[in-house]
Amino acid sequence: MQKISEKIMVTKSFLPPFEEYSKEIEKIWETSWLTNMGPLHETFKKQLEKYLKVEYLTLATNGHLALEIGLKALDLPKGGEVITTPFTFASTTHAIVNSGLKPVFCDIETKTYNIDVEKIEELITDKTVAIMPVHVFGNPCNMKKIEAIAKKYRLKIFYDAAHAFGVEVEGKGIGTFGDISMFSLHATKVFNSIEGGVLAYNDLQLQKKLRLLKNFGITGPETVEAVGLNCKMNEFQAAMGVVNLRYIDEQIQKRKIVTDRYRKNLKEIKGIRYIEDLENVKHNYSYFPIIIDENIFGKTRDQLFDELKEYNIFTRKYFYPLITDFDCYKEEYGQIELPKAKYISNRVLTLPIYGDLAIELVDYICDAIKKIGE
Ligand SMILES: *Cc1c(COP(=O)(O)O)cnc(C)c1O
Repeated sequence: MQKISEKIMVTKSFLPPFEEYSKEIEKIWETSWLTNMGPLHETFKKQLEKYLKVEYLTLATNGHLALEIGLKALDLPKGGEVITTPFTFASTTHAIVNSGLKPVFCDIETKTYNIDVEKIEELITDKTVAIMPVHVFGNPCNMKKIEAIAKKYRLKIFYDAAHAFGVEVEGKGIGTFGDISMFSLHATKVFNSIEGGVLAYNDLQLQKKLRLLKNFGITGPETVEAVGLNCKMNEFQAAMGVVNLRYIDEQIQKRKIVTDRYRKNLKEIKGIRYIEDLENVKHNYSYFPIIIDENIFGKTRDQLFDELKEYNIFTRKYFYPLITDFDCYKEEYGQIELPKAKYISNRVLTLPIYGDLAIELVDYICDAIKKIGE
């Protein structure tokens, strides 16, 4: 097998034609309005509400700070327990901890790698205040069940929908479920505004609170009502968002073609498992994770990861290690039994995917995997 000379990275940030972006930011020079909810911010917000099919939304500098102001806006009592998943990006847990709350880790299920809804109830105590699930790789959690549990125990639901931009369930925007959802618009995500975060919710009361919290809690020249943060989306970010939104449908369509090709090619390789489309879900094809069963494939995930590099293919062990094994958390949480999360985390590999990834390269990646397994 001929090794290609270019490096194939796990993702490649989408950039629009330069002229389109420069035309959009030209307006900033006319007004000198760089940040603090300028005209591009307002335009982007309106366009996103429509695209994401949500009632209300608030824009932020990035997804992580959006999580933090979202948690603040829910007014959860300090020290309260938040049931969440260990199979996620550091941000989810950090947001809980930075908010003075305590993460309680629930194991995951092995079909979508999302929180196992059958295991949530046994973790509820009189201190539980919220559930913070993640739509991992853009695959929706079992939201009906989560909602039923939250209702029964009067808990808030905050979805980390960082991966789920544009995902719909039964024709509804995924951001309409739960009390709040957060979408990340980071450069490496399916849709970007360079950096950026979006909070979506159905309760208008939250809008006022979030507007305060993202701008230091300032309500007027001489009044500060809340201990806020600073996480406003600036005009350059909003401009990138406005322009990129023109391309998102095409990009998702192209990602679907890449995904279909991976599935077709990998179907023949024993010991490699991947997730199929789910019923009644409009997917965004944000990631292409595979699970390697070393007993059947013949090599471990780590061996595959290393050997793919020799073919100039750069994958990611996403998410590995589990949050509970991070240096900053392992002392307190490292001993929790999370057998399924551990199983998946030790065997998962996300393969390169982005809209402009050539089909020939997808074939090349699959050929390399096949060869390594032989
Ligand atoms: C990317 C990500 C975040 C954080 O979003 P940023 O925009 O990078 O701050 C939070 N949670 C998950 C699951 C993510 O993947």
